Amino acid sequence: MRRWNGWGDDTINYPLPPNGAKFLEEHVGAATPPQDATLEQVLSSIPPSRLPAHPLISAEPIDRLRHARGQSLPDWVALRSGQIPAFPDGVAFPNTPDEVLALIRYAKDTGVRLIPYGGGTSVVGHINPLPGDPPVLTVNLGRLNQLLSLDEISHLATFGAGVPGPELEAHLRARGFTLGHFPQSFEYSTLGGWVVTRSSGQQSLWYGRIENLFAGGTLISPIGTLHLPPHPASAAGPDLRQLVLGSEGRLGILTDVTVRVSPLPEREVFYAIFFPDFTSGETAVRQMAQARLPLSMLRLSSATETATTLALAGHETLIGTLERLLQIRHIGPEKSLLLLGITGSERLVKATRKSALAIAREYGGVFVGQRFGEQWRKNRFRAPYLRNTLWEMGYAVDTLETAVSWHNVQPTMHAIENSLQQALQSEGEHIHVFTHLSHIYTHGASIYTTFLFRLADQPEHTLARWQKLKTAASEAIVAQGGTISHQHGVGTDHAPWLAAEKGPLGMAVLQDVCHRFDPEGIMNPGKLLVPESGGNNNVAA
Ligand SMILES: Cc1cc2nc3c(=O)[nH]c(=O)nc-3n(C[C@H](O)[C@H](O)[C@H](O)COP(=O)(O)OP(=O)(O)OC[C@H]3O[C@@H](n4cnc5c(N)ncnc54)[C@H](O)[C@@H]3O)c2cc1C
Repeated sequence: MRRWNGWGDDTINYPLPPNGAKFLEEHVGAATPPQDATLEQVLSSIPPSRLPAHPLISAEPIDRLRHARGQSLPDWVALRSGQIPAFPDGVAFPNTPDEVLALIRYAKDTGVRLIPYGGGTSVVGHINPLPGDPPVLTVNLGRLNQLLSLDEISHLATFGAGVPGPELEAHLRARGFTLGHFPQSFEYSTLGGWVVTRSSGQQSLWYGRIENLFAGGTLISPIGTLHLPPHPASAAGPDLRQLVLGSEGRLGILTDVTVRVSPLPEREVFYAIFFPDFTSGETAVRQMAQARLPLSMLRLSSATETATTLALAGHETLIGTLERLLQIRHIGPEKSLLLLGITGSERLVKATRKSALAIAREYGGVFVGQRFGEQWRKNRFRAPYLRNTLWEMGYAVDTLETAVSWHNVQPTMHAIENSLQQALQSEGEHIHVFTHLSHIYTHGASIYTTFLFRLADQPEHTLARWQKLKTAASEAIVAQGGTISHQHGVGTDHAPWLAAEKGPLGMAVLQDVCHRFDPEGIMNPGKLLVPESGGNNNVAA
């Protein structure tokens, strides 16, 4: 069963290797395991539902708790401590688009607010009811999960928007196709969630981001239904699909989505290359992207991330042998690990690998084969389980991300890392920070930074630590001219920084669009755009 206060299936654990605890103690400090609230304690704290009864709505406390928060660090603090400032008053599980329409009508008639819910994997506060809101109904779209049609000639598939990653891929694979969209949250996140948060999968270099895969669909809004036809291209004025992409549940509920699918590839391989330092690796991946090599993934770790990965990989003897081998090839402590994926026919894989390795060699890259890459593939959806282990030891881990053009990659990366390292200096807390370039483009790259810090003695102090870290890093991103999000979206946590990117006219247009689709403000209020009160649900209550 899915954990109610952590990540993933509760039968799956990801223990730290034997040297992991020592590594954390050296880099972050000794930690104290927290006293988490029990499920019974949290269930007994849920206030009565304020919703008028409706046959489609459950007001069961367990349903309300399971839809109260997503996966951001403030969500974890709330769920683990049991200090949850607001719960949905009920949860509906519509079976058909007509039932979705009925729920929207119910909300309009009763003044209830609606939160569309896909897989609840948001890491920026998208699905959280806000304290002080009128009654809130969360609409779980998980029953809209069917493959509705597959056009094998045009390579277009239409699904119910609530289909989660594994089910979607299973349907397609059975017919010889794939969508190829693999965010790390693949196990639980849904097609509708991907579209409205502008998600990016790990192999987007080959398959494209969700905005490249999203061909059309149906959005039921409070004022009517928007049908988006899956034209291959169109010059008929602005593309309305772009309004729905990134709309974060503010405009209505996506009930079905048509996606561009691909035949299953003949081969899919992941290799590892070590560079003497990050700058050499960065230059090589830029050249690979600008040469438009048909790669599926380029993921380049900083020296600190490389060292952390190797230290926490376990297999000490194997890593020791690798380190010695690399040393002989002049790859020392500043080494930078590149994971490189290729997808396609046997011939394409061979030819692409040859071209990529030629570029890597020019910058001192040492190719170490498939073993590391395969290990990464095996664990690609397992790594988030480590968050459970770390929390239970007394450590919090969070990530943030941006994208900038090439000339600005290293300055931005250093500005983010420095801001995090300094944010808790006055408390004497040490933050372990490391970064990788997660998605590579011809014109720039996304920067994905992970930071680890110690839980404080009280949940509100942990939250205050996170606020300082998040604010410092977000300010650094904005000061560098980066986007406030490359893939996680805006939600509540990034909303204060959105205006820096969109400008006053852009913000006014977004407000107008939300108002046009939802004049009474019933759809997911307070997300994407800062609520008029300026409130934020993450501030310690
Ligand atoms: C461990 C972990 C790893 C992650 N890795 C990645 C990654 O690699 N790439 C990436 O892009 N993101 C990643 N994320 C973030 C998250 O998974 C994405 O934002 C994802 O797209 C959210 O999908 P969901 O179905 O869980 O949506 P939810 O979290 O349920 O909802 C997100 C937003 O979408 C709205 N929504 C959902 N479904 C609909 C619908 N049918 N109609 C209208 N509105 C809807 C909700 O109201 C909310 O505003 C990760 C998150 C976690 C926890």
